[in-house]
Amino acid sequence: MIITDGIPAADRYDAVVIGTGPAGLSVAMALADAGRRVLAFESGGHQQVRGELSNTIGYGHFSGEYWNAHSIRTLGGTSAVWSGWCTTPREIDLDNPAVGTRWPIGRRALLPYWTKAAPMLDHDPSLVDFETPLLEGFSYRPVPFRTPTHFGHKYLDRLQRGVIDVVANCSVAGFEAGESRRALTAVEALHHGTGARRRLTLSDRQPLVLAAGGIGNARLLLQPPRGGGVPIGNESGQAGRFLMEHPHLYRVGECAIDAELDRYWPAKGKGGGVHALVADPALSRTRGLYGCSLQCSRKNAAHPMARFLSRERGRPFFHYGIAARSEMRPSAENRVFLTAERDATGLYRAAARCVLDARDLLNVEMSLRALGETLIRLDRGRVRVNSDRIYKETFGGGHIMGTTRMGEDPAASVVDPDCRVHGYGNFFVAGSSVFPTGGGYANPTLTIVALALRLADLLVSEGRR
Ligand SMILES: Cc1cc2nc3c(=O)[nH]c(=O)nc-3n(C[C@H](O)[C@H](O)[C@H](O)COP(=O)(O)OP(=O)(O)OC[C@H]3O[C@@H](n4cnc5c(N)ncnc54)[C@H](O)[C@@H]3O)c2cc1C
Repeated sequence: MIITDGIPAADRYDAVVIGTGPAGLSVAMALADAGRRVLAFESGGHQQVRGELSNTIGYGHFSGEYWNAHSIRTLGGTSAVWSGWCTTPREIDLDNPAVGTRWPIGRRALLPYWTKAAPMLDHDPSLVDFETPLLEGFSYRPVPFRTPTHFGHKYLDRLQRGVIDVVANCSVAGFEAGESRRALTAVEALHHGTGARRRLTLSDRQPLVLAAGGIGNARLLLQPPRGGGVPIGNESGQAGRFLMEHPHLYRVGECAIDAELDRYWPAKGKGGGVHALVADPALSRTRGLYGCSLQCSRKNAAHPMARFLSRERGRPFFHYGIAARSEMRPSAENRVFLTAERDATGLYRAAARCVLDARDLLNVEMSLRALGETLIRLDRGRVRVNSDRIYKETFGGGHIMGTTRMGEDPAASVVDPDCRVHGYGNFFVAGSSVFPTGGGYANPTLTIVALALRLADLLVSEGRR
């Protein structure tokens, strides 16, 4: 049911979820499927976007309104505007020495959940493992595209009829925990429509899943508790740190490849017409490369580079433009932090600083050069690198990651490998804020949904309520 006129008490529910984006709705629906009663809070309206609450100030490479434009407050969250590209990280993307941080869970643990998550995002589960060797050192690994699933539309009927109660236009504005900080004991919610505030008590058997987005999760964990002291859930001091995006760099290069190689591109359907190449793990390790997908599109036989090579080599060549989707290394200095201003919820406004490392850009150049060297060595083509576009024009994908990172060490991470806030029995986080690295260049939403489904399984298996 969508509740628009009040805030119910929490004691009738088995679990509480904050946020109804892909993370929050996936965990809520999986719990409901297992017979659990779920209460979800959503800052936005069930048909309207609440624009004034996405009020983060941006500094660095993604400045100004960047983070607000990528954090949408409505039923379904940012899935209201996302683009629908999905892929999975490879094993090396979860443990790459060049990135310097390892995921505490591997691909094997995620595989069954990616397979379940794909249809929820209207993707074919076969995308999860699709990869085929193409050239020595490089594989063809498409980033499949589908019409983007809007969670607030796709699952609205289910929410209106089902066992999940969503309180729309209602923000969670604070947490309470006992002295020992072993469990959340209450949350405070503000109804934007009526202005009513309500304190909802929680039992230590009642899980609360924070799924308020990459900025929203950190922002709530950074808020000082009433009476001051260490913010609840940020005993590690790590909340907000390690903010990451996926650099998207357009027209960073161009290539000409011979017709024989061109014939090897697998069926067009898989990659939506964009042919994506990634360095193999062995080449990545030798060269110290990390996530970078080189995406070739706009095939052109008449381009001067193709015509020149065709003449020179005496066989046909085709020209492609290259864009890169890549990875940035996690850095504690890139972070969400609080300003002194408060907004309508009474929460301190957030600011986000995110500065790409020189190596993050060099990684793109080196990936292009490695492809060029391979093509020359095999006499299959050429790559031209457009250095200005790499170093002067940075875009992002709207992927907000890392701000409540997952890890085994409670002093160096916010949640454990089960996405439970270290030290708490009933406090969990869902979303790409738990990613310890960008997971290579892989768009995050498939993994967000997979981790949410995995979390729901854990909550059910622990027999919580
Ligand atoms: C333009 C664009 C294109 C994108 N394209 C892709 C793509 O092609 N592939 C891909 O994988 N990803 C893409 N993304 C990213 C994708 O949209 C996000 O990864 C995904 O939506 C994150 O899901 P989430 O549930 O963690 O957070 P969100 O979807 O942001 O949902 C968080 C929800 O929590 C609510 N909330 C926040 N604070 C509170 C509070 N205090 N109380 C109650 N509710 C609260 C918000 O209102 C929101 O509804 C794109 C994003 C953008 C902006």
